[in-house]
Amino acid sequence: MKRIAVFPGSFDPITKGHEDIIHRAVPLFDEIIVAIGTNSSKNYMFSLEKRLDMIRFTFRNDPKVRVETYLGMTVDYCKEVGANYLLRGLRTSADFEFERSIAHINQTLVPDLDTVFLLSLQEYSAINSTIVRDILINGGDAQRFVPEGLDLSK
Ligand code: ADP
Repeated sequence: MKRIAVFPGSFDPITKGHEDIIHRAVPLFDEIIVAIGTNSSKNYMFSLEKRLDMIRFTFRNDPKVRVETYLGMTVDYCKEVGANYLLRGLRTSADFEFERSIAHINQTLVPDLDTVFLLSLQEYSAINSTIVRDILINGGDAQRFVPEGLDLSK
């Protein structure tokens, strides 16, 4: 059976932390679907198109990585695309507690969908999209926190 993993998130924008998790997951799966979830009550800094473009650019040389968008529940999307693994990144113990409860709920909803957790490099563990957005809003240079060569203009 093909090992397909979905890596869901907002990616507003994608950071070096996300990129590292995806790179580490490449040898473990046959296909990784980076899935941008859309939540109508959230205000995003970057449009869906721009977020898609940024992730596609980052993994342009990685044929195992596909980038898509989805609406609704992540577990439903996983079923729709035939994914058997849900990929999540862990930075801190707080991340772990938060992720654990979601993974337990998902396990109850879809018993044959397993959540796989990976740690990013320690140097990336403090990076998150919120910090990158704050730097950009304040006119700072966030380039070092995002994948190489990414165009952060809107
Ligand atoms: P969400 O909308 O779920 O907050 P994010 O885009 O922030 O989505 O994150 C998607 C996934 O990436 C989550 O599993 C999150 O823990 C992980 N992640 C984000 N930043 C990092 C990082 N710096 N190191 C490791 N994992 C990370």
